[in-house]
Amino acid sequence: MERFKGIGVSGGVAVGDVYIIESERMTVGRRKISPDGVEDEVERFHDAISKAIEGIRDDQTRLVPRLGEEYLAIFDSHIRLLDDKMLRQSVERRIREEHMVAETAVDEVLREHVKLLFEDKSTARWVSDIYDIQSRLHRVLMGRSTGDLREMKEPAIVVAEDLMPSQTVSFDREQVLGIAMEEGGITSHTAIIANALGIPAVVGVTGLTAEVRAGDRLVVDGEAGEVVVNPDPETAERYVRIEQDIVESDRRLLHEQAPLPAETVDGWRTALYANIEFPKEVETALENGAEGIGLYRTEYLYLEKGREPTEEEHYEAYRSAAEAMWPRPVVIRTLDLGADKAAAGGGREARSEPNPFLGCRSIRLCFEREPMFKTQLRAILRASVFGYIRILLPMVTSLAEVRWAQSIIEEVRDELYTEGIKHEGDVEVGAMIEVPSAALQADTFAEEVDFFSIGTNDLIQYTLAVDRSNPVVSYLFQPAHPAVIKLIKNTIDAGDAAGIPVAMCGQMSGDLSFLILLLGLGLRAFSTSPNVLPELKRAIRMVSIENAREVAAAVLEESDAAAALKILRAGRADLLQDEE
Ligand code: PEP
Ligand code: MG
Repeated sequence: MERFKGIGVSGGVAVGDVYIIESERMTVGRRKISPDGVEDEVERFHDAISKAIEGIRDDQTRLVPRLGEEYLAIFDSHIRLLDDKMLRQSVERRIREEHMVAETAVDEVLREHVKLLFEDKSTARWVSDIYDIQSRLHRVLMGRSTGDLREMKEPAIVVAEDLMPSQTVSFDREQVLGIAMEEGGITSHTAIIANALGIPAVVGVTGLTAEVRAGDRLVVDGEAGEVVVNPDPETAERYVRIEQDIVESDRRLLHEQAPLPAETVDGWRTALYANIEFPKEVETALENGAEGIGLYRTEYLYLEKGREPTEEEHYEAYRSAAEAMWPRPVVIRTLDLGADKAAAGGGREARSEPNPFLGCRSIRLCFEREPMFKTQLRAILRASVFGYIRILLPMVTSLAEVRWAQSIIEEVRDELYTEGIKHEGDVEVGAMIEVPSAALQADTFAEEVDFFSIGTNDLIQYTLAVDRSNPVVSYLFQPAHPAVIKLIKNTIDAGDAAGIPVAMCGQMSGDLSFLILLLGLGLRAFSTSPNVLPELKRAIRMVSIENAREVAAAVLEESDAAAALKILRAGRADLLQDEE
């Protein structure tokens, strides 16, 4: 049994078998075996050879009819290479005499092979075939998949170095019991999807992939941010019980809170909205008592399809969300592709930029690809006839961007009118406040937009210069940093002064540690993962605004995040005490 520490980004506990997703950089772990493990290791190696050959035969049957007869010979040569007596003996010798794990022994033998092939020009062309069979053997030995989640046969816990958005969007809650990953932070796209689907997840687990292999059993504790590899029976049983308790208390909480208003003890009403990535989440949002959708991350429509959706596909998605939520509002954020949310098929928004978070992301990408932006806007205006839709512009850094987007919305409206297509003419347009320049200029922005939504995931990233998905610098991702708090306050004050609504849709809005502070700063609308809403409502119903204002005033006096957190922790402890 081995324990790993990481960052718990999606609550709950899962216990299950591991399903490893291969990535280029994965290392071979467990380099030495004990003398009494030698025979098992040799057997594992021979087993892997048989399975790899079987795999090649399957590919041969499947692919040769499609690729042509000339590929038959290539597959045959790979089988011959794997079946080579010299290869088997050399690997076996290293396992027996040097106690290497099979993966390392295979690497060493094949490396020597490659060296020999390179010495002779006529054989150098075989090198890529050696690499091919090496990676195939690795996959079998380490039980790693090719990254295609459709290959997953049984429900399991997904382990990976990192996951692409195109992989996370294909997660099936029934199949993916939990996620444990080396990369990522609390606001990375994997964390967002895990939360959306209610999958327990721990990210930033350094060294995990080198130590886990097929056949291992894992515990993912999303509450404590811990991963346990091969737990002993008592530990596993304890975690299963914790898992059952969490499910049971969540159910009770939901039942108890759903009919109640989100109102503080001194009678201040707040609005609780849900963040969604897929239209099907609307149902969960309603079950959890959402008063609307505060953030619809529409880029997942692109990521899910691996291509640009058609106008009709956009329209269907938005119309179904608007109809299901009516008369509640649905805030549709326009395309926020780029950076860690790279679309399939490359393009500027893919990770190839040197500084993707500072590059052609979000509204900037829409600026570059106006026809794509217009397609989405046409669908939004058309769908608005069926409900209460509002448009939210992401990552605006200057008024020029807001004005440009507004002018495109007007153009699209005129086009629909001329074409005689039914649409809503008067849709509210809001700005996400998620970069410091917008927060500092919030008073001027407030004169030109209908509402604000504070995106703390990016606001913290850009204010503190800390990559939101890099676990190495995650300790610097501090919502309680005085600079962040000042920008939030400035935005709320500017919105209030101009009389426009201000909501918060970053992860901070669903984090109970910051609730008293945010209420004290004047925030009255929160948008977060649907499954957090019942807990958030319960906490709001225990706070008094008078007390929250005092806490906020004290926090604003502090000059560092640690001191601010101390005050917030004390405030939360008082709250919990009152509950008892
Ligand atoms: C944010 O930045 O806080 C936000 C809500 O948007 P996203 O996480 O999608 O960037
Ligand atoms: Mg953002």
